[in-house]
Amino acid sequence: MYDFRLDEVAAWIRKIGARTVALQMPEGLKVHAQNIARELEAATGASFLIIGDPCYGACDYTVRYRDHADALVQFGHADIPSMPRDDRVLFVEVFLDLDVTELLERALPRLKERIGLITTVQHVGMLSRVKDWLEAHGKEVHIGRGDSRIRFEGQVLGCNITTVDPIADKVDQFLYVGSGDFHPLSVAISSDRPVLIIDPLMNEVREIGELKDRILRQRHAAMTRAADARRFLILVSTKVGQTRMELANDLRRLAERHGRSAEIVLLEEFHPDRLLPYDADAFVSTACPRIAIDDYLRYSKPILTPLEMEIVLGEKQWSEYRMDSILG
Ligand code: SF4
Repeated sequence: MYDFRLDEVAAWIRKIGARTVALQMPEGLKVHAQNIARELEAATGASFLIIGDPCYGACDYTVRYRDHADALVQFGHADIPSMPRDDRVLFVEVFLDLDVTELLERALPRLKERIGLITTVQHVGMLSRVKDWLEAHGKEVHIGRGDSRIRFEGQVLGCNITTVDPIADKVDQFLYVGSGDFHPLSVAISSDRPVLIIDPLMNEVREIGELKDRILRQRHAAMTRAADARRFLILVSTKVGQTRMELANDLRRLAERHGRSAEIVLLEEFHPDRLLPYDADAFVSTACPRIAIDDYLRYSKPILTPLEMEIVLGEKQWSEYRMDSILG
């Protein structure tokens, strides 16, 4: 099902003359890591190390690969153009080419007239066929281009849905081609347009509205719990594409202006246990926006996004609520 494009990877390794190469991939692809290493070893003569730690995105490549290898190949994510470049790092998108005609037929009765198409990197190659099918069935279709954090037309990240901005006013609905709920949830909350999902891996057509209501209720509850917080911990990630130190400093000053205190804590991997030693009433995550939403129930104190902290302190209104994003 997956195309790892090993010929291209081997050609790149030979071109840069790498002798030891680190391989990195998200959890779902790790089961292929040993075969990939063996195949590349045979094709290039280089030796390979597999990075066993979790890998969540291109934002998260292991900068310390240089301690043990002279190049790094990360599979499964597109590069983030606005991130600092390292010529010894190669990002290899792993595209899926699946026929979604039957799913589109099932979705058709629920589709509105003007549709914005969005997807994750695995499925970007399928978008033009989906567009053609929809147009042949009388729909007006728009595909947007995001900011400099986004590589492909129509692509969204969990931390960046700027792809929808140029087309949101032109569409009645977004159609998300892909698996998982976080990306379409972000679009539904931030664009105020309904989002329908066709999920080729689950073979499912589903709406996001109910989940959107549940998450908004949860976020409202988190802010209510943090309303009387006297002491915040502002959490900053050391992952290369997630660090937002300037924002953390702004939030710290904001807390102080409102008579609260705040300290900044730097972390590579976020885990509730790592925060146990600290005295705080609420946490604010400036790292991957998914952490505060997906992991909310794992933390004993409310964990907020930066915008949620501003709402708690009265600087912003609930009516301005958006999902957190990291812009390019
Ligand atoms: S910050 Fe989070 S959502 Fe954005 S690319 Fe990284 S892991 Fe994905």
